[in-house]
Amino acid sequence: MSSRTTRQRTAVLRTLTSCQDFVSAQELHALLTATEVPIGLTTVYRALRDLEAAGGVDVVRDDAGERLYRPRPADGHRHYLICRCCGRSRPVDSEVVERWADRIGTDTGFAAVEHTVELTGICAECQPATDEGEPSPCRWEPTQGRVRSCAS
Ligand SMILES: [Zn+2]
Ligand SMILES: [Zn+2]
Repeated sequence: MSSRTTRQRTAVLRTLTSCQDFVSAQELHALLTATEVPIGLTTVYRALRDLEAAGGVDVVRDDAGERLYRPRPADGHRHYLICRCCGRSRPVDSEVVERWADRIGTDTGFAAVEHTVELTGICAECQPATDEGEPSPCRWEPTQGRVRSCAS
């Protein structure tokens, strides 16, 4: 790997880390171009793919099926809302759950308290159309195996 590649990958990861939420490659590319050295979209994609392969980022798909990236937390801990119909998952804000779980640990004197929170639902695309009255069937088979949970 050339030092140029390393530098670009570092820039991608640094910018990604500065984002508080999942971002798409396009959003990341826009941020990089605004704040760092000019970088091609292809390079951003390649860097993200490398980071993903190395386990440095988490990847989810948004409602439109676009891949979204976020640096993997040190403990790999996160929560997702999963569509029971198509299996798409999206990250959810779990601040309140984390704070609650921390407090339970403190209140009870338990150490190493862990939790698993799984949220499932029907995503906007899989919901039957309300005004037409004609329910749209699931376009995908339910995906048991793809459901992700909080526990790593
Ligand atoms: Zn769905
Ligand atoms: Zn949690």
